[in-house]
Amino acid sequence: MAGGRGTIMKVTQHIEEAKGETLFTFEIIPPQKGKSIQELYDNIDPLMEFKPPFIDVTTSREEFIYVDKGNGLLDKKLTRMRPGTLGICASIKHKYNVDTVPHVLCGGFTKEETEYLLVDCHYLGINNVMALRGDAMKEEQSFVPKMGGNCHAIDLVQQIKLLNEGKYLHDVIHVDNRSDFCIGVAGYPEKHLESPSLLSDLKRLKEKVDAGADYVVTQMFFDNEKYFQFVAKAREMGITVPIIPGIKPLAVQRHLQVLPQIFRIDLPEDLIQAVDDCKDNAAIKQVGIEWAIQQSLELKAAGVPVLHYYSMGKSENIRQIASQLF
Ligand code: FAD
Repeated sequence: MAGGRGTIMKVTQHIEEAKGETLFTFEIIPPQKGKSIQELYDNIDPLMEFKPPFIDVTTSREEFIYVDKGNGLLDKKLTRMRPGTLGICASIKHKYNVDTVPHVLCGGFTKEETEYLLVDCHYLGINNVMALRGDAMKEEQSFVPKMGGNCHAIDLVQQIKLLNEGKYLHDVIHVDNRSDFCIGVAGYPEKHLESPSLLSDLKRLKEKVDAGADYVVTQMFFDNEKYFQFVAKAREMGITVPIIPGIKPLAVQRHLQVLPQIFRIDLPEDLIQAVDDCKDNAAIKQVGIEWAIQQSLELKAAGVPVLHYYSMGKSENIRQIASQLF
């Protein structure tokens, strides 16, 4: 099934070609290992009519699992429960004729492993990547890089930039086929949870852009004012690249507790009240959809380049939102 706007283009080229029209994109997470990719396709299919120029595929951190040894003892194993980011990017790209953006993490990878991943991306004609640090593992108090790995997203941006210049980690041969990755990085309208202030976080964002990031995608937010102020401050600081708002439709009661806890974001009182007034999760899902539509309409009217939706693997609410906007 074809549905995208034609490959192979950089995210920034898609934005330029749209000439001010707001684009629709979304992010998916790989299935748990052992599960079929079909469910992913079933959730992507209904969204293709809105012509996303690119689709992001997340990368999960590794985690500890406990395997029953059968003798009453448990074995602690480190594993990645949702591998396959690059394979999914390649399969979606070919199935739907759409560009894909793998999320590349510092966490859990050495620089060598990252280089191999980027080489694979290049061979596959995938020339957009999101460069992210990754969160700390559940068991860790704070983020710990793998030995020989990148520590901050900026280090990853620098590694990718060097590769674009033909500089591999161990300059072994003359490079005559350079990559040309377009690099996205994360931005936080309500500041990153570890950052002492929004201003210091913005300075870090500026460093990532100065190091070569081509665009920013924001963490989810539920109050557009936070995004508008963030963009205004970023522009004042000289960050000129596109800043793409990330939108997540709230879907269940639990989101009221977990989203602020995990992402350190505030939820507007009106939204909390509307959710509290709901009798069941179906009603909450509807509130989430309507809130996201209102947010999206205002952002679109303000001329944002892209509306990027966090689908978390489920597309029905995103489809309902997109049908009102695209
Ligand atoms: P960084 O830019 O490295 O920043 C992390 C913290 O360190 C910030 O507080 C920053 O202010 C500070 N900092 C930055 N540079 C320096 C420096 N040089 N010295 C000292 N402090 C510094 N996580 C996943 O695991 N997989 C995903 O697929 C994924 N996708 C995401 C997509 C988007 C759009 C967003 C917004 C987040 C995503 N995340 C993902 C979450 C992300 O990995 C976490 O938010 C992580 O904690 C920070 O990543 P970062 O790239 O912003 O890190």
